[in-house]
Amino acid sequence: MSDQVVTRFAPSPTGFLHIGGARTALFNWLYARGRGGKFLLRIEDTDRERSTPEATAAILQGMEWLGLDHDGDMISQFEGAARHAEVAHHLLAEGKAYKCFSSQDEISDFREQARAEGKSTLFRSPWRDADPATHPDAPFVIRIKAPQDGSTVIRDQVQGDVTIRNDQLDDMILLRSDGTPVYMLAVVVDDHDMGVTHVIRGDDHLNNAARQMMIYEAMGWDVPVWAHIPLIHGPDGKKLSKRHGALGAQEYQAMGYPAAGMRNYLARLGWSHGDDEFFTDAQAKEWFDLDGIGKSPARFDLKKLENLCGQHIAISDDAALQQEIEAYLKAAVLPPLTATQSGDLERAMYCLKDRARTFPELLEKAHFALISRPIEPDEKAAKALQSVSDGILKELTPHVQNVSWSRNELEEALNAFAEAQGIKFGKLAGPLRAALAGRAVTPSVFDMMLVLGRDETLARLSDAAN
Ligand code: GLU
Repeated sequence: MSDQVVTRFAPSPTGFLHIGGARTALFNWLYARGRGGKFLLRIEDTDRERSTPEATAAILQGMEWLGLDHDGDMISQFEGAARHAEVAHHLLAEGKAYKCFSSQDEISDFREQARAEGKSTLFRSPWRDADPATHPDAPFVIRIKAPQDGSTVIRDQVQGDVTIRNDQLDDMILLRSDGTPVYMLAVVVDDHDMGVTHVIRGDDHLNNAARQMMIYEAMGWDVPVWAHIPLIHGPDGKKLSKRHGALGAQEYQAMGYPAAGMRNYLARLGWSHGDDEFFTDAQAKEWFDLDGIGKSPARFDLKKLENLCGQHIAISDDAALQQEIEAYLKAAVLPPLTATQSGDLERAMYCLKDRARTFPELLEKAHFALISRPIEPDEKAAKALQSVSDGILKELTPHVQNVSWSRNELEEALNAFAEAQGIKFGKLAGPLRAALAGRAVTPSVFDMMLVLGRDETLARLSDAAN
C-alpha cells in the first residue's frame, strides 16, 4: 500500500445527504486533507430500485455546501459490475470460491433440518468441495470459501479489536445466479482498486467488515485501516430521527447556518481535541485523528451548533459571508437581494457579524440597511417613537447636519444634544433606532448612521419627526 492516505465517502443514493452521512464525509475529508492525502467519492448505486439520480444530485449539493471537495471523478459502483464479477471469477479459478447449485428450497430445507437438530442454521453448501466434473448444467451462484475455524479480528481504530469466530461466517455469495455481483464484493473491489487506505464509516457497517475481510484475504490484498464511528443520537439519547428535527444536511443551509459552523459542529460530534469546541478548518485538518473519535454515540445539540455558528460568522471574511448569505436566500427559497441591497449589505456587514448565530438573525440586524423610505416601524419601534416628543427628533436634525460623518464626531454631537435636552443618551437611542430602522433591536445608532450616510440619516429622522 502506498504511503499516501486515501479515504472515501461511499453514500448510497437513496435520499438526501443525511446529517450522519455528512459527518462521515467530513471525517474522511479531514483525515485526508490533514495528511496531504486524497478524498474520493463513490456512489454506491448497485441497488437499482432504490438509487436515483436526484439523490446523487442532492448528495453532491450537500457536499458542495459543506465545502467537502473530492479528488478525481465521482465513481459509480454500478458501472464497475464487470470488474467485480471478474474478481469473483478469479477467486473461482484459484479455488478460493466455488459454484453452488443449491436452490432456494434446498437451502430452506437445510436450515429447517439444522434448526430441528439444534445445530447452527448457517448454510453449508454441499458444493463447496464438489468435483467440477459432477457440476450440473444449471444456474449457480459463486460463493467464497469462508475459513471454517479460527477467528477473524477486525483491528478497528475506534472500537478496538473486534473478534468474530469464523464458524459464525457462511460462504457468502459473491456473484448471483444472474451474474451480478453482491454489494459486499463491490465495496471491497472498489476500495482496493481506488487505493483506499482508511475506511471511516458508520458502525452499522462493522459486521460487514468481517465478511469484507474474507475477500481481502482471499485476494491477498492489503486490508485498509478500519474506523467504525458510532451513530449520532438525538438530545434524548435515542437514535437520531425526524422527530428530533431536520435530518438533511441541506436543511441546515436553508435554516441559515453557515457551512463553517456546521463543519466545526459536525467535527465535534463524536470527535474531540482536548477541550477545544470552536476551531477553524485549518485547525480541524491539523488536529483530526482517529484517536479522538469517541466510542459512544454523540448527541445532536442545536444550541451548541448555533453557538459555534455565531462564532464563525463573527470571524468570517465579509465578502465570503455576503456570498454565503446570497446562497442561503436561494436555498431557503427567499427573494434574492437587489443590486442595491447587496451593496448596502456589504457596507453594513462589519456591524452585523457580531452576535448573529444564523443568517436570518444577521439579516434581521441588516434590516435598517436593506429597507428604503418610508420606514414602517414595527410595534415596539412605534412605541419608542411615541415616547419622545416629535420635537426632539426635529431639533436634533440641525445638530447632526453639519457633523463630519465620523463615529467620534457623531458620538460627541449626539451626547451633547442629549445633555442639552437633560436626558440620558439611552433615552434618545430608542427613538433613534425606531426612526432609522423601524425596529427596537438594531446595530448601534452610530453604526447605522455611518452605514446609511448623512442624507439618508437626515431623511429618516425628518420622516419620523413629521
Ligand atoms: N453505502 C454505504 C452507506 O451509505 C456505505 C458503505 C461503506 O462506507 O463501506 O451506508
